[in-house]
Amino acid sequence: LIANVSHDLRTPLAYIQGYLETLLMKKDDLDPERLTKYLQTSLEGTERLKNLVDELFELSRLESGNRKLDPEPILLAELVADVMKPFQLQATEKGIELNMDVPIELPAVNADLALLDRVFQNLISNSIKYCNQGDSVSVKAERISENAIQVFVEDTGPGIAKENLSKIFDRFKRGDQLHREGTGLGLAIVKGILDLHQCEYGIKSEERKGTQFQFTLAIYRPLT
Ligand code: ADP
Repeated sequence: LIANVSHDLRTPLAYIQGYLETLLMKKDDLDPERLTKYLQTSLEGTERLKNLVDELFELSRLESGNRKLDPEPILLAELVADVMKPFQLQATEKGIELNMDVPIELPAVNADLALLDRVFQNLISNSIKYCNQGDSVSVKAERISENAIQVFVEDTGPGIAKENLSKIFDRFKRGDQLHREGTGLGLAIVKGILDLHQCEYGIKSEERKGTQFQFTLAIYRPLT
């Protein structure tokens, strides 16, 4: 873990430092365009560092057992609509269709709102990140028994190679080494949250066909 973190922290730190040193040395000779570019790149580096540190913090809280569940009744149709809305623009710009099939009549589930929100955020943002123009991303939910609702987050994107599938929930596992923009912690956080809720979950994926994440949530039962 430390080796991975050090590597991921060092790369953006090194280029932020490089750009800032250049700015300091050449500040009087740089044209405005170059100046903006150097500042922009430094800012992107700090954003990347911030994401990584935030995700590490969140993951360590989940894995240490310090994050206690604060369950409440949640209407999935409302939560999913709220989570999807801010992704719409990004999806449209990439030519990706977002679909939601979560019936409003489904009973409320019993879950920690902030954490369940995070699960949807991570899964939907991954699907949008890895999908290409013409693909679609769908969130579906259905009641599968007296006590449970099954949720699917699926896409028609590039899929995950078979040899990576079993390790995809591990920290820092990146299926496609070309995609260096991710932190490799998103699915480890999803796993930590679903484990904390004692949910069953799984993933199916086929290269060039798409990926389907599935998890089961308990229906809320008021105390009688
Ligand atoms: P990252 O920050 O790299 O996205 P994640 O833990 O969220 O880290 O995901 C781990 C890896 O799983 C990704 O690097 C990517 O290779 C693969 N992956 C996750 N979701 C998808 C998806 N919807 N389609 C294709 N590959 C995916």
